[in-house]
Amino acid sequence: MRQVIILGSGPAGLTAAVYAARGHLKPLVVEGHEAGGQLTLTTLVENFPGFPDAVMGPDLIKAMRSQAERFGADFRQGDATAAELLRRPFGLTIDGQKEECQALIIATGASAKLLGLDSELKLMGHGVSTCATCDGFFFQDQQVIVVGGGDSALEEAIFLTKFATRVILVHRRDTLRASKIMREKALKNPKIEFVWDSTLDHILDMSQQKVTAARIRNLKTGAITERPVDGIFIAIGHTPNTQLFRGVLEMDEVGYIQTHDGTKTSIPGVFAAGDVQDHVYRQAVTAAGSGCMAAIDAERFLEHQAQ
Ligand code: NAP
Repeated sequence: MRQVIILGSGPAGLTAAVYAARGHLKPLVVEGHEAGGQLTLTTLVENFPGFPDAVMGPDLIKAMRSQAERFGADFRQGDATAAELLRRPFGLTIDGQKEECQALIIATGASAKLLGLDSELKLMGHGVSTCATCDGFFFQDQQVIVVGGGDSALEEAIFLTKFATRVILVHRRDTLRASKIMREKALKNPKIEFVWDSTLDHILDMSQQKVTAARIRNLKTGAITERPVDGIFIAIGHTPNTQLFRGVLEMDEVGYIQTHDGTKTSIPGVFAAGDVQDHVYRQAVTAAGSGCMAAIDAERFLEHQAQ
């Protein structure tokens, strides 16, 4: 039986692993089907403290992983496919194998929704991004596209006008889903151009390994326009990876796990960290911070149980 199992291997899961392993809890980290999380989809990370010359997202993850391994964390590839959390020890099935633990840290993250284009995946981290806060800085005096019509898309578009000369917002309808205040702000921003009833058909140029233009299709007329741009931000929402815990843990209406008093969930002994419980900040550093909190909360919980 394990003292602690950690689900997820992004910055939240790996930081929890560093702390739990260093606290002699010998955690098992279940890496998940997107091992390393969203940082593995980015290139340069310039805002993670401690790296004045920036760090590549995958390298940061690799360094966190080896730090956790150095303190004795065990890693297992694969996904948890079943969880029994009604009594302790908790039971987990990890790719067909049963495991038990006294405390569980869920750090399975959230996945950015994508349009489903081949070119979008190929150019991810090379001009295509799902996070303006992370990557906006790279587009000083350039032109970018933001896809989406919700609060995230407008927030990203407004943020990007600090750097870009022009932000083209491509939305599939002619009405924005975003809140009134965000709509008003975006509509009166002279740097934002709205392209309605449209979607992206293709992103160029895979052969150059960078974004040079986008083909925009009008969904009403079928007309295709090619616009030269340097970056594309996909902001059509996120899906928290919480399917396994639906109906078991308290969640908000979208499926983010609700936490209280730090990282505690509605079941004592189960903790949640990172994007799986945070749809507001979504940063590597905030995820790492909450991973640290989850490990400390789990350690205190186990100590209390032992008394
Ligand atoms: P959202 O509200 O679900 O909006 C997603 C947007 O993307 C919608 O406009 C949707 O179009 C579009 N979309 C979805 N799938 C698409 C596809 N396959 N192709 C093209 N377009 C697609 O998601 P969100 O903007 O991330 O917001 C999530 C929640 O967080 C919301 O409750 C929001 O209010 C909140 N939030 C608040 C703030 C803030 O207050 N500052 C900031 C960010 C987020 P349709 O409109 O046609 O469905």
